[in-house]
Amino acid sequence: MPSSTTLIDRFGRKVDYIRLSITDRCDFRCTYCMGEDMEFLPRDEILTLEECARLVCAFVDLGVGKVRITGGEPLVRKDALKLFQDIGRLPGLRELTLTTNGSQLEHYADDLRAAGVRRINISLDSLKPEVFRRITRVGDLSKVLAGIRAAQKAGFENIKLNAVLMHGINDHELFDLVDFAITQPLDISFIEEMPLGEVDHARRQTWCSNDETLKRLQQQYTMLASAESTGGPAKYWRIADTHTKVGFISPHSHNFCEDCNRVRITCKGELFLCLGQEDKVDLMPLLRGTTDDAPLRQAIVDSMQIKPKGHDFDIRRAQPSVVRFMSMTGG
Ligand code: SAM
Ligand code: SF4
Repeated sequence: MPSSTTLIDRFGRKVDYIRLSITDRCDFRCTYCMGEDMEFLPRDEILTLEECARLVCAFVDLGVGKVRITGGEPLVRKDALKLFQDIGRLPGLRELTLTTNGSQLEHYADDLRAAGVRRINISLDSLKPEVFRRITRVGDLSKVLAGIRAAQKAGFENIKLNAVLMHGINDHELFDLVDFAITQPLDISFIEEMPLGEVDHARRQTWCSNDETLKRLQQQYTMLASAESTGGPAKYWRIADTHTKVGFISPHSHNFCEDCNRVRITCKGELFLCLGQEDKVDLMPLLRGTTDDAPLRQAIVDSMQIKPKGHDFDIRRAQPSVVRFMSMTGG
């Protein structure tokens, strides 16, 4: 039975959205997300799929209506589909979504749709195979494009591309990426690179502001500001006479913390209350070796007391604000 309890933090923000990373592994090694040689967690240190399902169920019971499954690359986890099927059946869940690099979508798109996933985000930073390879280090663009086609055929209600633009690497592809989105037609969001993970001085040279990206787009297209929201931090614009919406996720240019409605859970069961801060609660001990969900639910309710007011990213700093890879926290 859904309970009347809702998750409200000290600043009055209602938390009704969770992002759960189900693996730290990935078949790509995107430069902004992972190191070249990653050491992944041993199997017994990550939540089992049954533990993931119990966790999601507890959150949904506490009023969470939207769940995004992420990673790492969620679709490289064996039997990930079963989790989608289990979560997709939960009464009280409004929306089950997925963020994927698209490499496995050709195989899973139909089944994900049947499991109740209605919208998906697919990361795509380049349409040039060699640039795509440089950014992902090992990725094959043709597989991702095949994945996008499969998703279109499977009939998702919305497919959104996510792109991280980087000066001198893929920023010259801005119009190609947007034209691709227009012709498909799909939506596209630009995410400003966040200083997570390895110390990387090059990042300050490659960082592209979304204000600058929007200005470039306004010179090429008629951009219409939109009040639409998908329950996330993106600010949207419509391109006149197209079906494409362009989103901007701008942690540096615009602080989106005051509307934050989400928390993140790593594949180790760590509940992070903010992407850019270290405040967390370890939920694994409350899941493993026990079947009583009451302490788990209480820990989740109590965690609202330590949700920080906001993040602390500063691209000018040499050290990343939080030395944690996105593949751990989930994008
Ligand atoms: N593997 C999946 C994918 O690539 O979509 C899901 C996980 S990935 C961590 C989720 C999103 O985070 C991707 O769109 C990726 O581009 C983004 N991302 C990863 N590291 C980032 C960073 N340092 N700054 C901004 N976005 C980042
Ligand atoms: Fe993998 Fe996604 Fe990170 Fe790229 S951004 S390395 S695809 S988890």
